[in-house]
Amino acid sequence: MMKYQYDLFVIGAGSGGVRAARMSAGFGAKVAIAEDRYLGGTCVNVGCVPKKLLVYASHFGEEFETARGFGWKVGNIRFDWRHLIENKNTEIKRLNGVYQKVLDSNGVTTIIGRATLVDNNTVRINGEDITAERILISTGGWPSVPDFPGKEHVITSNEAFFLDTLPDRIIIVGGGYIAVEFAGIFHGMGVDTTLVYRGPLFLRGFDHDLREILSEEMRKKGIKLEFNTNIKGIDKNDDGYTAHLTNQQSLFTDLIMYATGRRPNTSNIGLEKTDVKLNDDGAIVVNDKYQSTDPSIYAIGDVTDRINLTPVAIAEGIALAKSLFGNQPAKVDYSGIPTCIFSQPNLGTVGLTEEEAREKYGEIEIYKTRFTPMKLSLTDSNEKTFMKLIVDRKSDRVVGAHMIGPDAGEIIQGIAIAIKAGATKAIFDATIGIHPTAAEEFVTMRESVGE
Ligand code: NDP
Repeated sequence: MMKYQYDLFVIGAGSGGVRAARMSAGFGAKVAIAEDRYLGGTCVNVGCVPKKLLVYASHFGEEFETARGFGWKVGNIRFDWRHLIENKNTEIKRLNGVYQKVLDSNGVTTIIGRATLVDNNTVRINGEDITAERILISTGGWPSVPDFPGKEHVITSNEAFFLDTLPDRIIIVGGGYIAVEFAGIFHGMGVDTTLVYRGPLFLRGFDHDLREILSEEMRKKGIKLEFNTNIKGIDKNDDGYTAHLTNQQSLFTDLIMYATGRRPNTSNIGLEKTDVKLNDDGAIVVNDKYQSTDPSIYAIGDVTDRINLTPVAIAEGIALAKSLFGNQPAKVDYSGIPTCIFSQPNLGTVGLTEEEAREKYGEIEIYKTRFTPMKLSLTDSNEKTFMKLIVDRKSDRVVGAHMIGPDAGEIIQGIAIAIKAGATKAIFDATIGIHPTAAEEFVTMRESVGE
């Protein structure tokens, strides 16, 4: 008789959990996965996927303007938020079904319900105790809102995807990915948008030029950026909310959205009944094999709060399945992970910031360019595209590439391969450009702007 009912029990069917479950089953393991909310997790339901759909939707306003410059007679344009949300919900439902099919076709047992740990080999779900030799926790994260008077009046990204109507005015608090992306989304849909960030310049940790230039481009579009201040309290009034700021200013608005980070989902899942250790932020501590301090329990993705990106969670799921059941020990290479903020314009980046490169290599060369994208040349738009390469002078290797402009994510994904392969600036220079594109600028920047 088998000692355990399953070889692997996965708690949380998001990007990482589903990939680990289906690959492990593909290697012949007996696998079950539990989910209490939605298949596909944050990314599919209240993250990357619906966000990108909203970004597309919100950019059409500018596209209609661009079209006028190219001779199109564009009539009265009108935007229907409900229509968009209905279509978005239908698409997400389709994707939930795709996830279910993928699990089924790989022989993974899906159990809908909230799973809690009873001990380090037992999970309780829907009143039943199920045993597994190994348990994987991939429960992701959840928006976190600080405590202050009036906190109960705010929404987070979770609710933003399901609003019944668009507000006339919104305040978004935070200076990270989500705040910046949603500021572009709401502004593009005609909402009077103010972003409030506590520090002097948003996107802390990104290359300084990117932070400066994106703030400039967003302001040019009409997004209000209030830096060096924070909300200390919110009052509800008959016609909206009053946000009291630490700089003594008060702002009146219809909706306030907090995007002040996410916390790992580690509460109320019975971790106290195991030897799993959490760090000060509540994330599960794992070793380089994704194993927690309790040897039968593993964790991947946002619940470990390391690099909170979908493709990273997926890569971790693959590495874990290969190592545990595929007889192919695997580890994720966390260097040179490209990322894109779907702000408007997009911000794409890979490798080191100028500040990090200077610290690491001492002598560096910087190449920069800023220009009007050709698509906007027949319009009144004053949006500019920005590109920057950072080169280690000694080895000539390109150690960072950064861009703000249309399709920055698409372009940086390709550049990321070159950087991962260790391409030198000489190789970038020897690469023939595709003309006319914006991307060709990455292989035609010749003049260093200094070190
Ligand atoms: P981030 O960690 O990116 O940003 C949080 C922001 O909130 C920071 O600007 C931070 O300021 C600010 N903040 C934190 N606490 C407070 C507070 N008490 N009062 C005021 N401001 C505060 O979190 P997000 O919520 O934007 O996104 C979560 C994660 O999701 C990201 O880290 C990213 O990994 C992932 N994500 C990725 C996307 C993509 O790949 N395109 C899109 C969306 C999310 P400070 O900098 O001063 O600490």
